[in-house]
Amino acid sequence: MGVAENFQAIRNELGDKIILVAVTKNHDVEVMREAIDAGATDIGENRVQEAVAKFQTLDRKVTRHLIGHLQTNKAKAAVKLFDLIQSVDSQHLAAALNKAAASIDKVQDVLIQVNVAREPQKSGVLLEDLDALIKFVDEANNLRLRGLMMIAPNLEDVEQCRPFFKQMRKLFDELRPAREAFDFLSMGMTHDYKIAVEEGANVVRVGTAIFGARTYR
Ligand SMILES: *Cc1c(COP(=O)(O)O)cnc(C)c1O
Repeated sequence: MGVAENFQAIRNELGDKIILVAVTKNHDVEVMREAIDAGATDIGENRVQEAVAKFQTLDRKVTRHLIGHLQTNKAKAAVKLFDLIQSVDSQHLAAALNKAAASIDKVQDVLIQVNVAREPQKSGVLLEDLDALIKFVDEANNLRLRGLMMIAPNLEDVEQCRPFFKQMRKLFDELRPAREAFDFLSMGMTHDYKIAVEEGANVVRVGTAIFGARTYR
């Protein structure tokens, strides 16, 4: 199947209440256009530099998500480029984004990425540091906290990811009532999005199942 068919199959499967972010990292801009022409409204990229180049020539209107780890020295470029930055995981980064957003008079929508499985190789704030980071983002005038994001461990038996999704859903539900615009629970990728949705994800980030395997150059 081609990109359009793959996209539409997943789009139909998810229904209209879940945001499907088509992850185009390591694919070129033609592939991006193909997905958008098939109905993709949300595009996810991992790296600022790669995204700049592609969005420059895209010539389509789309909601742009940054889903990869961000270094503070790229904060300025990131706020210029992205509608939603999903990977805020430290006060240091939040401060840099707030400053960058202020400098262009933008209120930047962000998610906090939580390392709920405590994987040392992964980014994301640890649970014990979450409250302090939320407080920091709340107090940052040019950031607006829209929800939470997580990347599940890459386990062979995908069912073993379920408790992590459940835990995130619980956190999200606890935080949500007291907040405005706290709407997005971003979890689930190609191998685990079905389970993530069962556990309450309303944003999924899917690359491989739409575009096929990535080739790294
Ligand atoms: C690459 C990536 C995805 C998409 O992964 P697939 O397995 O190709 O669907 C989703 N989220 C993040 C943070 C990623 O880096």
